Amino acid sequence: MARYTGAVCKLCRREGKKLFLKGERCYTGKCSIERRSYAPGQHGQSRKKTSEYGMQLRAKQQARRYYGIQENQFHKYFLMAERKQGVTGENLLRICESRLDNVVYLLGWASSRAEARQLVTHGHFKVNGQKTDIPSYLLKAGDKLTIKNASRDSEKIKAVLEANSARPVPQWLEANNDAYEAKVVNLPDRDQIAAPVEEHLIVEFYSK
Ligand code: SF4
Repeated sequence: MARYTGAVCKLCRREGKKLFLKGERCYTGKCSIERRSYAPGQHGQSRKKTSEYGMQLRAKQQARRYYGIQENQFHKYFLMAERKQGVTGENLLRICESRLDNVVYLLGWASSRAEARQLVTHGHFKVNGQKTDIPSYLLKAGDKLTIKNASRDSEKIKAVLEANSARPVPQWLEANNDAYEAKVVNLPDRDQIAAPVEEHLIVEFYSK
């Protein structure tokens, strides 16, 4: 399935909540959902009762859009989550959180997950000393990330580090921007995951 290339703020308005897809703008009054908190399109402002299935579908779409994951890949993550011990919904979010593009964003090494995906694809990072340019690469506890020597002088990398230096890094990650390195201390518990989704609805969606 092709990646969505339309206006990303419409995705937030469609879901009725902030999905933080645009970096800095999401935290300002310019955020579209602050100004027009109704769904886009001709019938966006009409109230509709959502069915149980509709709520489950929306929860799944919200998670996919929040992390920028394609449908097929997301379903694969669900199957992986089911095979793991523990609560399936939490396992699913933990898998999404451990993607390399998500971790690069959470470290403040990119302004949005979309930008993180692009920077990873352009080969700016190493995992455990190996160049890794696959955004969906799943990190484990103890993995070490570094910004490649050759990338440290890049104007783009300097600009994103500067722009995001004040953004707090989650406790399950450790960042040392002066040394251009970071570490996955552990994979997150549910209360360390900020995703604005009700994961039990996603489990219900796929369990039909
Ligand atoms: Fe746009 Fe970000 Fe606001 Fe979503 S949260 S509507 S992406 S500015």
